[in-house]
Amino acid sequence: MKESCGLFGIFSPKPDPKISRTVYYGLIALQHRGQESAGIAVGDGEKIKYHKGLGLVNDVFNEEVLGELSGHVAIGHVRYSTTGSNVFENAQPIVVAGQQGSLAVAHNGNIINTRELRSQLEKKGLPFRSTTDSEIIALLLIEQGPDMLHACLDVTRTLQGAYCLLLMNQNSLIAIRDPLGFRPLCMGRLDDCVVFASETVALDAVGAEFVRDIEPGEVVLVNENGVESHKTAFSRSAFCIFEFVYFARPDSVLENVSVYAARERAGRILAIEQPADADLVVGVPDSGTVAAIGYSNQSGIPYGMGLIKNKYIGRTFIQPSQKLRNLGVRLKLNALRELVKGKSIVLVDDSIVRGTTMGQIVKMLRTAGARSIHVRIASPPIRYGCYFGVDTSDRRELIAAVLEEKKIEQLIGADSLGYLSLEGLVKAVGLPSDRLCLACFNGIYPLQVPSFCTKYLFEKE
Ligand code: SF4
Repeated sequence: MKESCGLFGIFSPKPDPKISRTVYYGLIALQHRGQESAGIAVGDGEKIKYHKGLGLVNDVFNEEVLGELSGHVAIGHVRYSTTGSNVFENAQPIVVAGQQGSLAVAHNGNIINTRELRSQLEKKGLPFRSTTDSEIIALLLIEQGPDMLHACLDVTRTLQGAYCLLLMNQNSLIAIRDPLGFRPLCMGRLDDCVVFASETVALDAVGAEFVRDIEPGEVVLVNENGVESHKTAFSRSAFCIFEFVYFARPDSVLENVSVYAARERAGRILAIEQPADADLVVGVPDSGTVAAIGYSNQSGIPYGMGLIKNKYIGRTFIQPSQKLRNLGVRLKLNALRELVKGKSIVLVDDSIVRGTTMGQIVKMLRTAGARSIHVRIASPPIRYGCYFGVDTSDRRELIAAVLEEKKIEQLIGADSLGYLSLEGLVKAVGLPSDRLCLACFNGIYPLQVPSFCTKYLFEKE
């Protein structure tokens, strides 16, 4: 599963020639949330300058580019596409020009009423350069005129779906979280600067102090007069539980819950719910590592690094055939033969999406001499697609939506397969279930989703 995006923003009360470097470091810490493109926009009181491109943060920025981007307000973005494909035009921040000036927007999430919003704008003759929902937001805002705060308060009433937004003009910065608070967004302090980030790890990376999470339905304006908070509609919180399962870094704290602690507890509960007679617990790195430690702590079965990850592989571009995809997994992971040979193994991962990778890992461990392999998953079966910022809107691609557990067990070649229950996962996270979105597990969507929602909506039309 792929997360949609990571956001970082900063407001400094005085001009800061190094402001884009701070954003750059913040984006590096958020790189796990999106590896397709990266961008930074900076306001210097007169205009907005920006630079963006396809690739990792380090591919897109260098010393010379960062040196050009000085000012006192800045936002940055790393993207994985959930609406529109991976082309330069869809990279963010999206900068749009209006009669009264320019606006830069960075978005994490997915808007689900995009078709009607886009057609409203097209009827008015507004130009679209991208196929993203984020450009729709940018154009809706610029159309409202120069008062950025009022534009935000107005436009957020018309948006449906998941959106954390950072937006800026040449002088001010605004942070917004949708009324259901699907995606994380927090605020911090760095000396006399105000900082916003998708995850607390980005605050840690730049040396900022955590202040608080932005609340669902909150709009926070930061300018020369200070910090001003406004509340829009609030229905109920529906924070994405998958942030705890997989998306967020384990060293982040979301909704006052340590991601590491939640994953360790999930592993412990998994060991109680799905015990196995084994000699060794192995986690699939990095996604299953913490839950595997929890499983080992609870069961008393020793934990070992039976799978070694190539840290330098980044993304693999090998995709065109199953044979080459298998090679991609072998480039990323290798079994530690000396450790696994002759052993009965509990293999822990955070989730199974399509099942192909897990099948290859099981095969790899068998080839390395494992006697038996008991796959344990630290979340329930994913049976429903996500329309709120994760790239799984096509249910047919989810193995648990089309096959029963016994069939999945056979398909991946495991001796046994066991999932954590939904109750167990919610208990591990420690937040009330009515504050969480659990839709990919139970099919109960916090918002009604139009049937036409797909990633490439505006490329088909
Ligand atoms: Fe998160 Fe699943 Fe809800 Fe999507 S459907 S927001 S992945 S919990």
